[in-house]
Formats: sequence, C-alpha cells, structure tokens
Amino acid sequence: MTRLLLIGPPGAGKGTQAARLAEAFGIPAISTGDIFRENVKNETELGRQAKAFMDRGEYVPDSLTNALVRDRLSHEDAKAGFLLDGYPRTADQVVELDDILADQGNTLDSVVLITADTEEVVRRLLNRALEQGRADDTEEVIRRRMEVYAEQTAPLIEVYSNRNLVREVDGLGAVEEVTERILSALK
Ligand code: ADP
Repeated sequence: MTRLLLIGPPGAGKGTQAARLAEAFGIPAISTGDIFRENVKNETELGRQAKAFMDRGEYVPDSLTNALVRDRLSHEDAKAGFLLDGYPRTADQVVELDDILADQGNTLDSVVLITADTEEVVRRLLNRALEQGRADDTEEVIRRRMEVYAEQTAPLIEVYSNRNLVREVDGLGAVEEVTERILSALK
C-alpha cells in the first residue's frame, strides 16, 4: 500500500510526475487543482466558488478544499493507496489530512518534494500558457502563485521533515529522468 504526497512550487512538474507515479504504483493520482478545474469547466457550485480564487492565484478556502479531499479519499479506489498532488498546501490542510487518515486507521508513507528554481518554473508555466491556455498561467498570476506557495506551503516541508517523511528530488531534467529519481528516492 502506498500513500504519497507530492509537494513543490507551481511548475515543478508535479502533475506530470503524479500521472507517471500513479501508473507505476497502481494507485489513483488525486490533484485538487485538476478537480477544481473540472468543476469550473462543468460550472458546478464548487467550481463557481473556486474560480474567483484560482483566477487570482490565491488558494481556495480550506473549508472547500478539505471537504473535497475527504470525500475523494473515501472512494473505493483510494482505499489501497493514493498519490495526492497539490494537497495539503496549508497548515490547516495538514491537520485535516492527518484526521482523515487517522479515521481510516492509515498513515502516510512518504512526501516527495520536487524542487525547481524560480526562473525555470516561470519559463515552464509561460510555455504551458501558450500550449494549454490555463487562466492562471499569466505572468502576474504565476508570480502570485509563487508567493502564496512560499508563504503557505513551503513551511509544510519542515512539518513533514520532522516526521522523517520527506524525500527531496531535483525536478530539473527530462521527465523520465525525474521519474527515475523519484522512484529511487522512494526505495
Ligand atoms: P499549480 O501547482 O501549478 O499552482 P494546481 O493545478 O495544483 O496548479 O492548482 C491550481 C489552483 O487550484 C491553485 O492556484 C489554487 O487556487 C487551487 N488549489 C489547488 N489545490 C489547492 C489546495 N490544496 N488548497 C487550496 N487551493 C488549491
């Protein structure tokens, strides 16, 4: 059984690696960002509430995000393991995830920290903007997302380091290379 988190700045390649790792381990990759975008696309009530925050590069309020993850982790396919991509991102979300796992009698196995320097991630995100046209991939919003990450999410690394769960991996290089680094860091 594998219960993993992926943490790293916007543009570090979490989504790309999450899909590959999920495949390798036979577990679902659960991306809160993808779930929010799906809801925005389908114009659900959750999507309507999340959109205003996402468009500004701000985090969606913990109350909405926590409820969404609690529900998703209760699905059958997550029973045998999961890879969370982009959650938790706040101290409150860490507490909620601990609580969800405690309710299930489960614990986390590892937290994979994907690092990448700021220049590189801004370049990648601007490139993605051209390819995918994501509403939050403008230079101004990218900068705000980096700030919010530094303020609210980077401090979580220490929390998980204190639990000896963090495996740090350099996110620069070819996609396959980064996957290999992660797999060997998890051995
Ligand atoms: P990135 O990591 O590149 O910023 P994501 O697709 O993971 O992109 O997230 C996009 C947006 O979705 C975030 O900027 C935020 O508004 C929202 N979001 C995703 N995950 C969370 C979370 N755990 N808590 C709050 N907001 C979130």
